[in-house]
Amino acid sequence: MRTAFTAEQLADPQTAASQAAIRKCVHCGFCTATCPTYVLLGDERDSPRGRIELIREMLETGGPPPTSTVTHVDRCLSCLACTTTCPSGVDYAQLIDHAREHIEAHYNRPWPEKLLRAGLAWVLTRPARLRVALFLGHLVRPMEPLFTRLGLKPLAAMLRLLPSPFRRGAGGGGASSELTTSTPTRYPLPARGRGRVILLQGCVEPVMAPQVRAAAVRLLSRAGFEVVLASGEGCCGALSEHLGRAEEARAMARANLAAWGRAGKITAIVTTAAGCGTMLKSYGRVVGEAVPAKDILEFIDEVGLPAERRALSLTVAYHAACSLQHGQQIKAAPPRLLAEAGFDVRLVAEGHLCCGSAGAYNILQSDLATRLRDRKAANIAATGAAVVAAGNVGCMAQLAPALAMPVVHPVELLDWATGGPKPAALVAPEGVIQARA
Ligand code: SF4
Ligand code: SF4
Repeated sequence: MRTAFTAEQLADPQTAASQAAIRKCVHCGFCTATCPTYVLLGDERDSPRGRIELIREMLETGGPPPTSTVTHVDRCLSCLACTTTCPSGVDYAQLIDHAREHIEAHYNRPWPEKLLRAGLAWVLTRPARLRVALFLGHLVRPMEPLFTRLGLKPLAAMLRLLPSPFRRGAGGGGASSELTTSTPTRYPLPARGRGRVILLQGCVEPVMAPQVRAAAVRLLSRAGFEVVLASGEGCCGALSEHLGRAEEARAMARANLAAWGRAGKITAIVTTAAGCGTMLKSYGRVVGEAVPAKDILEFIDEVGLPAERRALSLTVAYHAACSLQHGQQIKAAPPRLLAEAGFDVRLVAEGHLCCGSAGAYNILQSDLATRLRDRKAANIAATGAAVVAAGNVGCMAQLAPALAMPVVHPVELLDWATGGPKPAALVAPEGVIQARA
């Protein structure tokens, strides 16, 4: 694609990087078929190719973009399916992040939208604030139909995402056995130690699905690694980045780099939330300092599952989180590990399409997100599996209300299969799950 940036504009490294990305696009349109918003809406401006054109025009022109451009950029999920498909290697993440930052800096959103976006950034990046918000949300939950009738879609969408509908799934019981902020921050090197890892603590996952971190600590310890929860670590910055609050995201990244620097020598920084992992892996681009980040499934695939095995019989649908399959290009390892651990793994049709979670997308674009969720849930149900495993807390929260089966993180299953406790979501009082352990 041709560009016409001025020399002055190209003095900005961000613009220079965007120009390089735009120029790689040859307009072939391969990406349109795998873009969820184009699949749903059939509008070129809601396809990667169309958005690249809009972004080019916006960045070249400078200043406040037209509302229509903001609408089509806002509808992008940042799922990066286009990056997986593109044969020319267009760095779409660079473009969409730059576009969002430009819009945030130059576009005057209506004040309710501004308030909502600022509120989401304030609440979702701190576990303590999120806990309070969830408590308040439960109090006003009966008002969800009223909010829907009044057209307050983001509020209604937030209430639908509250964890109680997936009590048997992601946010389930067994909280007493989970790790909390009052638990130790170091899990010492096992007898046959192989190294030391920082486990990213995250913001949303410890509140919505605390059992995931507990399972991860057990699995990593059993695999021979000392696990450290770094003091002073905060949000990875992914949500702020998604909202175009780039400077806030950069400040979070820098604070984390300082916290990890104080933690001593490590083998890797391991994440259990794929969305955070993608953000960590972009620190090189975002703040110029790459970190040894690994998704936990990628890490366990490299170091090997613990040798212990339980004889299990359970069909598991593997839902590939976009941040894992597109953002980090980790595709084969998760289903392979689950199969190696003894599960009967079913892949989901249209697995490349996003479930609609995408950071705060399911709140900000709730109609599109619900359509994607229902499509994904139908494909998952069609596998006939007893349980679905998703490696990102956002996907777990998004899918649970639409599914009759429990939603777990793959790490919970791997932990169980190698000697850990049965995931709380599978210990359903009604005995729905027929899993032998
Ligand atoms: S990131 Fe996803 S939604 Fe956005 S243009 Fe690419 S494929 Fe489409
Ligand atoms: S597949 Fe790549 S090169 Fe082709 S239109 Fe899409 S972004 Fe451009």
